Amino acid sequence: MSAADCIFCKIAARELPAQIVYEDADTLAFLDINPVNPGHTLVIPKKHSADVFEIDDADWIAVMRTSRIVAHALEKALKTDGINLGMNNRAGAGQVVFHAHVHVMPRFKGDPHSLWPGKPYAEGEFAATGEKIRGALN
Ligand code: 5GP
Ligand code: ZN
Repeated sequence: MSAADCIFCKIAARELPAQIVYEDADTLAFLDINPVNPGHTLVIPKKHSADVFEIDDADWIAVMRTSRIVAHALEKALKTDGINLGMNNRAGAGQVVFHAHVHVMPRFKGDPHSLWPGKPYAEGEFAATGEKIRGALN
């Protein structure tokens, strides 16, 4: 995938403004412009990859490491009651910006956000689904 018109590549290259809160050799963390709560931060690999399927192991580990560093900083700076980590991968999961990024989202008691609703498995579906996934991993 071309990174030429990727907005997060442009932020990493300092060609677009961003409220950068942390960076290291391989990753950058900056505030999301449309936060679920103030402090909502996006963590990206500096090297372009589209999503969890495309990112290489080294960048994935680096992004996870930075996400945790940011989580600690949000808790300390904003006195959060909790932190959600999230990642949308492919349009079918709601991804809008196709440069891999992890959302680090501050949460506060009583805020209006909630976890996704769960739904029960149909008869036999629980074991069959486990079997299908194990099959894909072998
Ligand atoms: P996703 O691809 O994970 O569904 O959503 C992309 C996220 O990037 C959204 O939460 C959106 O608010 C954020 N976003 C989109 N464009 C920009 C931008 O130009 N700068 C920043 N800081 N965040 C952006
Ligand atoms: Zn990019």
